[in-house]
Amino acid sequence: MSAYSRVLIKLSGEALQGDQGYGIDPLTLDGFAKEIAELQGLGIEIAIVIGGGNIFRGVKGSTAGMDRASADYMGMLATVINALALQDAIEKLDVNTRVLSAIEIQEVAEPYIRRRAMRHLEKGRVVIFAAGTGNPYFTTDTAACLRAMEVHTDVILKATKVDGVYDCDPMKNPDAKKFEELSYLDVLSKNLKVMDSTAISLCMDNDLPIIVFDATEVGNMKKVVLGESIGTWIAN
Ligand code: UDP
Repeated sequence: MSAYSRVLIKLSGEALQGDQGYGIDPLTLDGFAKEIAELQGLGIEIAIVIGGGNIFRGVKGSTAGMDRASADYMGMLATVINALALQDAIEKLDVNTRVLSAIEIQEVAEPYIRRRAMRHLEKGRVVIFAAGTGNPYFTTDTAACLRAMEVHTDVILKATKVDGVYDCDPMKNPDAKKFEELSYLDVLSKNLKVMDSTAISLCMDNDLPIIVFDATEVGNMKKVVLGESIGTWIAN
């Protein structure tokens, strides 16, 4: 019996690149698709927000001299590329999916319409939200929080490369301490690198819990959904 009936999984673009440092690694992609298909098979309704950092980030473009808004639109389009790749990988496993884009791009994805997204979820389709919020100066983490609230998911599952939130970078500091639980205010006041402050504030104001977990370990997604306490739980 799963702990949640409807979840939103936030996958960063970087999660798809595997060890190759850029773009999409087919094996990594297929691995995520398999885990998502397994969850769907358990009867869990799944929404996904996918990032674009494996292809393009607006901040990087603007540091290199581009207009920030233009660079951000490029970042949003990068998320559409990732969404289509993920859709393809999941559908190969015979699971119906829909990509809903916040930027109209009707030949490749449906426009984001909240009630349509809810209907897809009710019908058991995996819904992949692309193009973030559709606005520059935001992140896909914020899009994840926004969409999770709009379609009423029980929780946000933030897939990362580490097994939770630490007081400092565990890759650089062997004494780093892992938090089992945190409040949103802790995250903000300690400036912990979980999500940007806009995303955290949105969850805080609307009481939406976030679980940060290591998605590089196969099986973790299922464990989280079944309510095993792995990772870090963030709530009020
Ligand atoms: N982006 C944006 N508005 C949004 C979501 C994303 O402008 O609502 C742009 C922004 O430039 C960002 C890029 O898309 O750098 C890719 O998203 P993000 O960096 O959040 O991806 P992730 O880190 O999850 O791979």
